[in-house]
Amino acid sequence: MKYKRSLLKLSGEALMGKNGFGLHSTRLQQYAEEVKKVVDMGGQVAIVIGGGNIFRGFSKIGEDKKINRIEGDYMGMLATVINGIAFQAYLENIGICTYLQTAIRMDQIAEPFGKDRAIHHLEKGRVVIFVAGLGNPYFTTDTAAVLRAIEIKADVLLKGTRVDGIYTNDPEKDKYAKKFKNISFDMVYKMGIKVMDQTAFILGNENNLPIIIFDINKKGNFKKVISGEEIGTLVIKKKEKNNG
Ligand code: UDP
Repeated sequence: MKYKRSLLKLSGEALMGKNGFGLHSTRLQQYAEEVKKVVDMGGQVAIVIGGGNIFRGFSKIGEDKKINRIEGDYMGMLATVINGIAFQAYLENIGICTYLQTAIRMDQIAEPFGKDRAIHHLEKGRVVIFVAGLGNPYFTTDTAAVLRAIEIKADVLLKGTRVDGIYTNDPEKDKYAKKFKNISFDMVYKMGIKVMDQTAFILGNENNLPIIIFDINKKGNFKKVISGEEIGTLVIKKKEKNNG
């Protein structure tokens, strides 16, 4: 196994499947089984779950300005809790002990975020789902994923998307677009790639956290990435030039 401890970022959109909104049971089941494969081979899996399938801070409901950005962001954070509870249920259903940790206190539902307890759970073979992002407005769950990965000392951050990596151009529009096997964080900024937000990439770069962008919808891909198969695109810090 190449990456013993991983943090998987699952976006809210991935959970809605064909529904276009809310949760899709087929998707929840599929991702739960992907996680199980990694846990069964001894991988330690933490998850940051998004909320975009239910609410985003600056989504349409807020356009009439009656819900401002900050209120909208809190609503978005609560949406991630709904997703987290749902995914926990699917994981538990296939025999995986799962803990929810939240950045906004709600003791009846989840334990408060704590890196040491999270690491303890992981070492015991339990899955930890981090919900409510970072607990602060003006952030995204992508940034939360990078920060949590750093805090729990994850070996890698995996961002599951519907595209199987970073391309020279949008592969859905340009059939000649080529996929990068590796790319540096610097190049990602230069190209203005939006697969994760800039804050997330900056934090990843500064803390030397490898990020892999891969297609989460292809069966077995999560296990393959963890095992070291080169699928998707690996984003890494550019090596400093040795001037000595
Ligand atoms: N959010 C926030 N602070 C955080 C994480 C999330 O304010 O630390 C809010 C923000 O409004 C965001 C929403 O929660 O739009 C849902 O998260 P996100 O858009 O990252 O979910 P995803 O795109 O992964 O489904």
